[in-house]
Amino acid sequence: MTNDGMKIPQATAKRLPLYYRFLLNLHSSGKQRVSSAELSEAVKVDSATIRRDFSYFGALGKKGYGYNVNYLLTFFRKTLDQDELTKVGLIGVGNLGTAFLNYNFSKNNNTKIKIAFDVDPNKVGTQIGDVPVYHMDDLDKVLIEEGIQVAILTVPSTVAQSITDRLVQANVKGILNFTPARLNVPTSIRIHHIDLAVELQSLIYFLKHYPTDAEIT
Ligand code: ATP
Repeated sequence: MTNDGMKIPQATAKRLPLYYRFLLNLHSSGKQRVSSAELSEAVKVDSATIRRDFSYFGALGKKGYGYNVNYLLTFFRKTLDQDELTKVGLIGVGNLGTAFLNYNFSKNNNTKIKIAFDVDPNKVGTQIGDVPVYHMDDLDKVLIEEGIQVAILTVPSTVAQSITDRLVQANVKGILNFTPARLNVPTSIRIHHIDLAVELQSLIYFLKHYPTDAEIT
């Protein structure tokens, strides 16, 4: 099994963590194989898509046998760099930021928020969960020292761009942006944007205008 240098389509890559989490659960319950139908039911992705996705991983399911759970887990662990802990920094310890600090990401994957930053003197110097909160004045220094290349942004949108510029200067390569601000970054930086208000609005719009199968009777 080799996946060095292999390019998986982006849509498939986005589903990897989902598959990985489910397979981990299967593995810990002692299951050694799984069919695409079972997977499909559990992760809510149609089985044709699962078969196509898995063919990129070199995992070819056998009829009447399904997929080998161990083989897939080894592949995912390698592809998702699960053997290496990815250290994440969080900027903005408000309501949302605090919730993330208390949430145990590392339960299912190997990412960990190591350090947080804020400007509020009531928050700087404290520890939330086991994560220390530093002042923004130390941002560049601490990020570089700790080798942190992934950041979560939970600051007010008015300051999001200027903080992003500093993150880029401090060698951050990926930003998960929870602010509504659309950020400008060099093409070498990857930004994933999650706007909870927009997602909620879109869900409500879809509920109204695209009824689910159960409602079309
Ligand atoms: P809270 O109720 O704790 O203020 P909130 O999520 O409603 O939370 P926001 O105004 O969105 O508050 O701010 C989020 C966090 O970002 C706060 O902890 C705030 O102190 C912090 N913050 C504001 N400006 C900056 C900045 N320039 N750099 C870093 N953090 C900042």
